[in-house]
Amino acid sequence: MNVFKKCAISMIIIALVVALSATATAETEIAPRAKGIILLIGDGMGLNQVRVADIYAGRILNKSLAVNSILTRGVTTTFSADSEVTDSAAAATALYSGYKCKNGAINILPDGRTVFTIGHAAKKAGLSVGVVSTTRLTHATPAAVYSQSPKRDCEAYIAEQLPEFAPDVALAGGQQYFIPRNESGSKRTDDKNLIEVMKSKGYSYVKDESELKAVNPKTCDKLFGLFAKSHIDYALDRENEVSLKSQPSLADMTKAALSILERNPKGFFIMVEGGRIDHACHAHDVKAAICEMLDFDSAVAVALEFRKAHPDVLVIVTADHETGGLGLGRGTEYALDVSALQPIKNSLEYLNKKLKKDPAKANDLITAAGFEFTDKEKELLQKHSPETQASGVPELSGFPKINGYVLSWIHYVLGSITSERAKIGWTSFAHTGQPVITWAVGPGDKEFSGSLDNTDIPKKMAKLLGVTLEQPVMRPSGSSAASECQ
Ligand SMILES: [Zn+2]
Repeated sequence: MNVFKKCAISMIIIALVVALSATATAETEIAPRAKGIILLIGDGMGLNQVRVADIYAGRILNKSLAVNSILTRGVTTTFSADSEVTDSAAAATALYSGYKCKNGAINILPDGRTVFTIGHAAKKAGLSVGVVSTTRLTHATPAAVYSQSPKRDCEAYIAEQLPEFAPDVALAGGQQYFIPRNESGSKRTDDKNLIEVMKSKGYSYVKDESELKAVNPKTCDKLFGLFAKSHIDYALDRENEVSLKSQPSLADMTKAALSILERNPKGFFIMVEGGRIDHACHAHDVKAAICEMLDFDSAVAVALEFRKAHPDVLVIVTADHETGGLGLGRGTEYALDVSALQPIKNSLEYLNKKLKKDPAKANDLITAAGFEFTDKEKELLQKHSPETQASGVPELSGFPKINGYVLSWIHYVLGSITSERAKIGWTSFAHTGQPVITWAVGPGDKEFSGSLDNTDIPKKMAKLLGVTLEQPVMRPSGSSAASECQ
């Protein structure tokens, strides 16, 4: 080998070494790690749900939304394996596992395979896991963190998977699927007492706000709280009804959960859901929806405050889908009037309960709750009780019972009148295919800017947490899920 050749080879080797070390440096620089992730999901929270809450907060309450202080944002598509319009189960599966399933399924693919979530991955890596929601703990969005079910409605079966998964913290509503059938309000058909099962596994169990506040985060390792038989009541009702004040806010639950999870030196993953923005929008109850948004935003504020002391924590705020096709403006006017919503003190759901108890006082109860009838509806109320179902009553045929969220003709008509006064429009009583916004702040936040699909989010979270999402597996035939839920 002559001198020239030797020199050339040496130059190539040096160039390679320099290139490799440069790549390594670049990789170190572009691969941030998050010690913990707080994933906040507004169920049904489209961009307009955020905007109308922001307008209400600014004009009526003289404050601004915490979520708007997060500068990195991405536009996120939400379609499921079988529809452009996802349901919450398929959306949650996508958000935690990275796979699309059909509407109604939780972590089960169309080909029958089971998928595993960021919750499973975090647990396997020794991180702590938390699940917090204002819905029943067995409702789709929280359930999909810890369970797998061909049908989301198999909530008794889903509840049984909670002690198996064993999150470090689980706080929500939904006692009805955890108590045995002989207890008042139970929705189980067996004698299982899953609250006792959780206690026997070392969980401290709490059932109201004062018990939650009494928890000592320095000594409590495993916390389990169910604060209502079904969903936690709407924030609007919790604010105005003395009997509901013992239920904690989403912010209170988030704070309590973080104070326990932060003790794990390996880190944590927590999902916090504002679960009832969706329900209020299904019912076209715009004031309840705004108050749910504000309740959710207070939990976002808790997460952002936590981040100040823990800059290695990544906060992600997103939605599983939009609900209702909420429009800011209607008809031919260039206007929106959120002040029309200010006098309203009850959700339509809660008002409906009051009317059911005391139908003779309907007019007074409706006025006291801050709603106003038109003359036409005043006349109708003289003739038809608030509970009358619209079907078969020609005079009420324009006010049908639409679904489980719209409970009576009164419920329907008050939602319509109120929305009209505030100049809010709706296109659907279900979900829509609108993309949603994802906000992120913390290590790796830039990964969440631009265009995303909901399946991108768990992959990015796993990478940033340094954990591995497991591959899907075929479920054994004759598994208990198959026999119970198909
Ligand atoms: Zn949803």
